[in-house]
Amino acid sequence: MDTPTKGMANDAYYWSTESTSAGSFSSSKAWETLKPRSDSKAWASTVWFKGAVPKHAFNMWITTLDRLPTKKRLADWGMNIQTHCCLCSIELETRDHLLLSSQFAVEI
Ligand SMILES: [Zn+2]
Repeated sequence: MDTPTKGMANDAYYWSTESTSAGSFSSSKAWETLKPRSDSKAWASTVWFKGAVPKHAFNMWITTLDRLPTKKRLADWGMNIQTHCCLCSIELETRDHLLLSSQFAVEI
């Protein structure tokens, strides 16, 4: 085991990531290293565009990822609820049913 000795140069530290060796800390580089970007999605420009209303863009994003809290998904998470559609009460309430195949959506 080495012991510190007098007369040696001062200790120094350096920040580096897998891809770069930066002299100082960069939170953006740390983020990129810890959570690398995935490939751009083909639908990204449809959801996120300049002038989009943030609330609508968020809902479109969640819908595109099929993450809407539909009754089917809530029941899958363990909630004890009826899974019938809130509009027609006939079919299972899923994203595709609510937005594409329900009679209400078809009429709109
Ligand atoms: Zn329905």
